[in-house]
Amino acid sequence: MQGICLLGATGSVGQSTLDIIEQHPDKFFLACASANTSVKKMVDVCHRFSPKRVVMGSQNARDCVAASCNGLPISFEWGVGALNSIAEDERVNLVIAAIIGFAGLKPTLASIRAKKRILLANKEALVTAGKLFMDEVAKHNVALFPIDSEHNAIFQSLPKTQKGVHKQDVSKLILTASGGPFRCCTMSEMQNVTLAQACAHPNWSMGQKISIDSATLMNKGLELVEACWLFNVTPKDVDVVVHPESIIHSMVSYRDGSVIAQMSNPDMKVPIAYGMTWPNRIETKVPPLDFIQLASLHFESPDRDRFPNLRLATEAWYMGGTAMAILSAANEVAVSAFIDDKIGFLDIAQINEAVLRSSDIKVVDSLDVVFTADKAARVLTNQFITESAWK
Ligand code: NAD
Ligand code: MG
Repeated sequence: MQGICLLGATGSVGQSTLDIIEQHPDKFFLACASANTSVKKMVDVCHRFSPKRVVMGSQNARDCVAASCNGLPISFEWGVGALNSIAEDERVNLVIAAIIGFAGLKPTLASIRAKKRILLANKEALVTAGKLFMDEVAKHNVALFPIDSEHNAIFQSLPKTQKGVHKQDVSKLILTASGGPFRCCTMSEMQNVTLAQACAHPNWSMGQKISIDSATLMNKGLELVEACWLFNVTPKDVDVVVHPESIIHSMVSYRDGSVIAQMSNPDMKVPIAYGMTWPNRIETKVPPLDFIQLASLHFESPDRDRFPNLRLATEAWYMGGTAMAILSAANEVAVSAFIDDKIGFLDIAQINEAVLRSSDIKVVDSLDVVFTADKAARVLTNQFITESAWK
């Protein structure tokens, strides 16, 4: 039996993970779970899975969950310290890092240091800390499995090794992108799009932030950098290809002309289950592909002019140091401002660019440097938004 610590249990990846645990009670049990403020969903998790420990983001949220779970043998906790400690709990074998954004970095690092098997969905944690993150993985000899669907597809399409890419055989990683809901829109059509339109992803059902990142292509920018760290390559080794059907989740092109792709219906249960059981596979209830029904698949180049975030993330990778932490922090703040109707959709990328250009890029020699850069970038982004100073 594998004890699971689910960081971000009430989110979209969290809920898909719970589906897998529920389907396989002989293999997995939920040992610990966390959420920020979603009381109702966490109460449901407690009644369905009775985890040993539950951590919420605030005392109030913790008290509300505890009050609705009277009699259940669960320890209810709150705050960052408790979050880090469930990632290290001795009943836990496997940690699913499914918190959204930079907030997931510390507990993910805690689980690496505790030598847990890590399933990484929280791409912001990896791209902001980059080398420090991967150094910790190497130092503690931890098994890190990408469950972001693209990276899981690349992992599945590479020779089975945890040591990264066999560069002598691989010529390119091919990262597919759906193109998001505005793939065919002109700039003027994107000018006044609403939150609901931006979140209406054509193929995937996901949390709000990643849905907006998919619409601006920041998600693909973050994933490009994520691929560079996970597979020890640089952006020139990775081609981004828009594939609107989201059936091929990514590919590896080999020097002999072979291309190996991983395909499935777009459902996060597939990469999550593979990470949970590698090198074996289990049922997920995701229906198999019907190729006759699909009939055709399409591919096109991404447009880096209409979607500048993809270009910005590539630039930030080459700038190095704190550049990616700054870009990701600016993007988190800008996306929240778009959700709160303070800025327009196209402003997100413009603000990201302005903050990146106006910030000092520092060498990252400690985690403190990353946290300081994140904080400063958030302050600057908020200031730009308040003063409309990015235009
Ligand atoms: P979501 O918004 O649906 O859920 C986020 C979870 O994190 C929730 O449980 C929430 O309570 C928790 N959380 C939010 N802020 C927090 C904070 N400050 N401290 C502690 N916990 C906090 O997000 P999601 O769509 O499930 O995405 C989670 C991560 O997985 C993201 O990094 C995303 O990029 C990545 N990812 C998601 C998908 C997907 O299909 N949704 C696919 C690939 C990768
Ligand atoms: Mg993805």
